[in-house]
Amino acid sequence: MSAVAQEIRCSHCGAPVEFKPGEIVATCKYCGFTTVIETGQVFTFVHSLILNKFDEKSIDEPIRAWMSGGFLKPGDLAKKSKITSKELVYLPFWVVSAEAKSTYKGIFERIAPAIVKEGTISKEYDWLVLAREASEFPTHEYDVPLEGKIPYDFRKIEGFAKLLNSEIVREDALDIAKQQIEDHHRFLLEQDVDRIVEIKTEVTLKQIVYLHAPVWFIKYEYKGKDYQLLIEGTTGTALKGDIPTSRF
Ligand SMILES: [Zn+2]
Repeated sequence: MSAVAQEIRCSHCGAPVEFKPGEIVATCKYCGFTTVIETGQVFTFVHSLILNKFDEKSIDEPIRAWMSGGFLKPGDLAKKSKITSKELVYLPFWVVSAEAKSTYKGIFERIAPAIVKEGTISKEYDWLVLAREASEFPTHEYDVPLEGKIPYDFRKIEGFAKLLNSEIVREDALDIAKQQIEDHHRFLLEQDVDRIVEIKTEVTLKQIVYLHAPVWFIKYEYKGKDYQLLIEGTTGTALKGDIPTSRF
């Protein structure tokens, strides 16, 4: 399917703002103004940015470090692989800050007689929801350095970088976060009881922030094959990397 880009006019500076089918919120690259496409309404939520600390040269350091470390990788990976592409992408997220309280009833069967356990799990979260529909992006391994976030500033976006727009409305992001938090509490509870009889989760929303965070999409070639590596742009942490299978 080819995604034909469309255009609207930025209601702040009048410049053309490009968006693709499925995108719901678009940010103007000339002034940083954000618009809800469907309604043409001004985006009234908080929009934040996490700063990228690398350029096309210095990103080589964390790439090589990833290639050289870890026992699962071929010993000559750093030496023999060729970096074929480095792309900086600002990915859109909804950060759902909420208090979640699950009330549960479960059965602990490891001892006889089995006992019924009742209780609550209460936690606070800055839950991250990727604002793209189809993506193999590993949100769960991604510890976004939220301390480093600043108000969105278009002047900080490098000319060579790509900025992706949201394909998910705020309300859907909240539903996704609620579901994922309950699943997470279910997982926590399973460490404690053998059977969950009942679980009810209440999520009290504090704030939802629209966020763009930098991720480097790296492609490299090793022994004639192509692989991908994702690196977080503030810390240089590898988020997900294809590792060539070593032959013995
Ligand atoms: Zn504009």
